[in-house]
Amino acid sequence: MKPFRYMEGESAEAATRAVTSAPGAVFFAGGTTLIDLMKIDVVSPDTLVDIRRLPLASIAEDGEGVHIGANVRNSQLAWHATIRERYPVLSEAILSGASTQLRNMATTAGNILQRTRCPYFRDVHAACNKREPGSGCDAIEGFNRSHAVLGTTEHCIATYPSDMSAALVLLDAVVRTRKPDGTTRSIPLEDLHLLPGDTPERETVLEHGELITHVDLPHLSFARRSHYLKVRDRASYEFALASAAVALDMDGETIRAARVALGGVATKPWRCPEAERVLAGRRATADSFHAAADAALAGAVPRRHNGFKIELAKRALVRALSELTARAA
Ligand SMILES: Cc1cc2nc3c(=O)[nH]c(=O)nc-3n(C[C@H](O)[C@H](O)[C@H](O)COP(=O)(O)OP(=O)(O)OC[C@H]3O[C@@H](n4cnc5c(N)ncnc54)[C@H](O)[C@@H]3O)c2cc1C
Ligand code: SF4
Repeated sequence: MKPFRYMEGESAEAATRAVTSAPGAVFFAGGTTLIDLMKIDVVSPDTLVDIRRLPLASIAEDGEGVHIGANVRNSQLAWHATIRERYPVLSEAILSGASTQLRNMATTAGNILQRTRCPYFRDVHAACNKREPGSGCDAIEGFNRSHAVLGTTEHCIATYPSDMSAALVLLDAVVRTRKPDGTTRSIPLEDLHLLPGDTPERETVLEHGELITHVDLPHLSFARRSHYLKVRDRASYEFALASAAVALDMDGETIRAARVALGGVATKPWRCPEAERVLAGRRATADSFHAAADAALAGAVPRRHNGFKIELAKRALVRALSELTARAA
C-alpha cells in the first residue's frame, strides 16, 4: 500500500473542498472496499478525507418519502422498522450482501459507489480498460463466468456488484449531492451510473469532490409487496450471480403495475421496463412471469463462460415473482 495522508472532514463544505482541491484525494466512509483496493494497489489515493463524523447518519421521513443519510450503515438501514415494513425489497437486498461485520461498517453511499469485483480489474498485472484506459480487457477472452450479460461493450463487461442498488433502482431512489461549488443536485439512481461505452473508467456522473449527502426514497404504496431474490455460489458472503428485485401492485389476481430490476448480470443497476410492461394488466401466472423474464433478458449478450447467467436470471425473476405472489395471497 502506498503512503497516504489522512484527514477528517469537519463539515460537508470542508470535506468537499479538501477532495476537490487535490486530484488524488477521495472520501473515506466505511472503508470496507476502498482500503481493500488500496492494499492491492488498484487505487492509490494520496489523501483520504474521512466523512464519518458528518451529520449524515440518520433516516427521516416526511410527506415526500424516506430520506437516508449517506453515512447510514447498511445494517441500520436494513433493520429500520419503516424499511422492513414498507420497503422489504431493500431490507432483503442489503441483508443478502457481504457479512454482518461488513454491513455494520459499510455506508449507504459507499455501497452505491463500490467498484466491480472483476478479477482482472483487481489484478494490476492484467489488461483492464477500467483501471488503465486503453490497455484492453482481459476478461473478454479470459475467464468471464462472473461477468455481465447486459449493458456490456467490447471495452468492458464488468458486473456492477451492489445488491442494495438493485432494490434502490426498483424504488426510483434519488441521490442527493453537494457539488464542489457548494450547489446541490438530485440524481435519479438510474442516471447515476454510466454504461461502460468506450470509457469504462468513467463509472458515474459525479464530479471529482462531489459528495453524496442523502438517498431519497419516494413513497410507493405497493413497495410493501416487494421481494429480493439472490442466487450465488454459496449461501453467504458472496456476490450475486443473478438476482431479481420485484414489486407488484395487485388487483385480485391481476397485476395493476409491476417493478422489476436485476442484479449480478449488468454493468450498472438494471431496471427492466420491458418486463414491467409485459406484466402490467396480466394475471399473475407462471406464463406471465416467464414472458416478463424473456423480455428482461432479450438484449443479453453471452460470452464464453457466462451464458448460463441468462437462464439463471430468468429463473431468478420467475421465482421472485412466484414467491412474492404466494406470500401476498
Ligand atoms: C468480502 C466482501 C464481500 C462483500 N459482499 C457483498 C455482497 O454480497 N453484496 C454487495 O452488494 N456488496 C458486497 N460487498 C461490498 C460492500 O457492500 C461494500 O464494501 C460497502 O458497501 C462499501 O461501503 P463503505 O462505506 O465501506 O465504502 P468505502 O470503502 O468507504 O467507499 C467506497 C467508495 O465510495 C466513495 N464514497 C463513500 N462515501 C461517499 C460519499 N458520501 N460521497 C461520495 N463518495 C463516497 C469512496 O470514496 C469510495 O470510492 C462485499 C465486500 C467485501 C469486502
Ligand atoms: S471487464 Fe471491465 S473491469 Fe474487467 S478487465 Fe475488462 S475492462 Fe477491466
